Amino acid sequence: MREFDCVVVGAGPGGYVAAIRAAQLGAKTAIIERNKIGGTCLNWGCIPTKALYYSAKTLDKARHAAEFGVNVGEVSFDLSKAVERKDGIVKKLVGGVEQLLKGNKIEVIRGNAYLESAGKIRVSNGDATEEITGKSVIIATGSEPAMIPAFNIDRVNVLTSTEMLDLKQVPESLLVIGGGVMGCEFATLFATFGSSVMIVELLPTILSTEDRMVARVIAKRFKETGVSVLTEVQVESVTPENGKVKTRLKDGREFITEKVMVAIGRSFNSAGIGLDKLGVTMDRGRIAVDERMETNVKGLFAIGDVTGKMLLAHVASTQGIVAANNAAGKVALMDYSIIPAGIFTDPEIASVGLREKEAEEKGIPVSVGRFPYAASGKALGMGETEGFVQLVADPGTDKVLGCSIVGAHATDLIGEVAVAMKAGATVKDIADTVHAHPTLPEMVMEAAEDVHGMAIHKIGRKK
Ligand SMILES: Cc1cc2nc3c(=O)[nH]c(=O)nc-3n(C[C@H](O)[C@H](O)[C@H](O)COP(=O)(O)OP(=O)(O)OC[C@H]3O[C@@H](n4cnc5c(N)ncnc54)[C@H](O)[C@@H]3O)c2cc1C
Repeated sequence: MREFDCVVVGAGPGGYVAAIRAAQLGAKTAIIERNKIGGTCLNWGCIPTKALYYSAKTLDKARHAAEFGVNVGEVSFDLSKAVERKDGIVKKLVGGVEQLLKGNKIEVIRGNAYLESAGKIRVSNGDATEEITGKSVIIATGSEPAMIPAFNIDRVNVLTSTEMLDLKQVPESLLVIGGGVMGCEFATLFATFGSSVMIVELLPTILSTEDRMVARVIAKRFKETGVSVLTEVQVESVTPENGKVKTRLKDGREFITEKVMVAIGRSFNSAGIGLDKLGVTMDRGRIAVDERMETNVKGLFAIGDVTGKMLLAHVASTQGIVAANNAAGKVALMDYSIIPAGIFTDPEIASVGLREKEAEEKGIPVSVGRFPYAASGKALGMGETEGFVQLVADPGTDKVLGCSIVGAHATDLIGEVAVAMKAGATVKDIADTVHAHPTLPEMVMEAAEDVHGMAIHKIGRKK
């Protein structure tokens, strides 16, 4: 029986990062993976969607090239070529992670892991089985698309995000169930590719966790690009028939589309790995952990989507680093207060910390500064004038509490605010920092100035 200091189950962005950090800290480390190295993020999540996002952006730019004085002739789009490009990027990144694991002398064991006891794991791969031990074990088994029986997800015409990423032809029509992050990202992609797209959403708005003004920018763009959005509607049934799909709503309306995408959430990969037998505390399918990422069973840690905290790759990785440190006898605590998040709609959305809406709901007094893309020279030059930067601050201490950005490169801009928050910076600190001109980050500086009614390039200053 092979013995390790640390065994990680699952090689997604949680697991592989935890394994590398454990190895860096001197632990003899193994990682078990039943499918592909890189997990959801690299193979069916963050990376493939963003590769396709840039195909969509390039297509959109080509369509509007004449506005920039560039004549490209008739523009056409080949989804199979875009998917081929996406596959190449995924392959390159997966290969890179495999090299990193090898370079850190981490034993990669292929197969399905099952916990016989807290430190003993059985790995099955076809007919072969192996038992290994780990002084500490980190569960990083992630999540999968939620399969709703009533929606008849046949993976041919009724699809999850996984199959959507491998479509070789643009469907003429697409109905997306769920107007959350994933639904809106895929609606953006396929509307740009040329599908006639409809989103159906149970709640009163799409992107309901975002500030109203932010969600409104995307709703407006959807309107302009022909994406129809039905809110406060419930899907009763989804039935594949005659090569198409019939979606029936509770109010009796029916729609026939070529494809349906179900984007209503994820289920956690916590069943069938022996956790119940070990008495691990669970919370509706999620593995319960403390701030050290340890479960109620000593030496057994859990990280990433399977903990159900925030289903984001960088959260999984950060949790992985915290778990690896604690497994190595160091003390590290997970802090969720400054987690940036991005949404790849067009324009992009990004946020960190407190949103204005959240402050209102919780009755937290805040001061807010806003700066529009339309007033930025760089954004004008780029032809990306939709959106704004919004900073939320503590009126007493002037500390930055949060930020929401909707607009081009929002997901890149948010990093500055995250660093400022981590450093305990005030709004004045950002406003006093000289920002290069002409750049998009100038808008963060102007939004900071606007908190005190002092933005230079904005009229209608506060008194
Ligand atoms: C379409 C889509 C787009 C996304 N876009 C973004 C984005 O832009 N930014 C972002 O931050 N996040 C994004 N996410 C979320 C992100 O992919 C996840 O939060 C992240 O992958 C979670 O990492 P993880 O390590 O916890 O789990 P996963 O990446 O799911 O990896 C878990 C791994 O464990 C393996 N495994 C499971 N059970 C076993 C077992 N018993 N034995 C052995 N191996 C096992 C699985 O095969 C898998 O490889 C997206 C997700 C999707 C679906």
